[in-house]
Amino acid sequence: MAQRFLLSSSERKLSPIKIACLSYTEAFSILHELRWRSKNEQVCPKCGVQHQAYFISTRKQWRCKHCKHTFSITSGTIFANHKLPIQTYLFAIALFVNAVKGISACQLSRDLNVQYKTAFTLSHKIRESLIVQRELFPLSGEIHIDGTYVHSAPRPKNKKAERVDRPLKENANSNIRGGAS
Ligand SMILES: [Zn+2]
Repeated sequence: MAQRFLLSSSERKLSPIKIACLSYTEAFSILHELRWRSKNEQVCPKCGVQHQAYFISTRKQWRCKHCKHTFSITSGTIFANHKLPIQTYLFAIALFVNAVKGISACQLSRDLNVQYKTAFTLSHKIRESLIVQRELFPLSGEIHIDGTYVHSAPRPKNKKAERVDRPLKENANSNIRGGAS
C-alpha cells in the first residue's frame, strides 16, 4: 500500500489540509478504497476471498460469508487495534509522505496532538510498511532518488554525569540577551 500510495495519482490528492477536514465517514470510505480498491467489496484477511461481506454497522466491522471471520477496516494492517481516530492515521500518512526530508516523531506528535511515544511508534510502523512494500513491489523503469548526508563520526555517548542542564541560570549562555532570566 505504501509505495503505490506515493505513486498513483489518486493518492496524490491526499493533501494534509484535505485530510484534516475529513469526517469519519469520508476517511472510512477513503481507507476502504485504498485498501481494497473497491467501494463495496472487501477481502477477508483470514481466507483471502474478495466478496461483499456482511457489514455490522454498529461496530463498523465486516463478517466474512465464507469463514465467519470478523474484521475491520484496519485488521491485518499496521493500524490494527488502533486507538486513535482513523482520520489521525490518514493525516499522519499524508504528513509523512509529504515531508520530503523526513519527519521527526517530535514534530509528528505536535502536528497530530498525540504523545511523543505514540508518534514515534506510528512513524516506525509507517517506515516498516515501506520496507515490506519494497520487497513486494521492486522499482522498475526510470528511477529518481534523492541523496542524504550521513555524518561518519559516531555520536558521543550520552552520559548523565556529563549532561549540562541548560535551563539552569549558571549554565545559560550569557551572550544571549534574556537567556539567563
Ligand atoms: Zn474469510
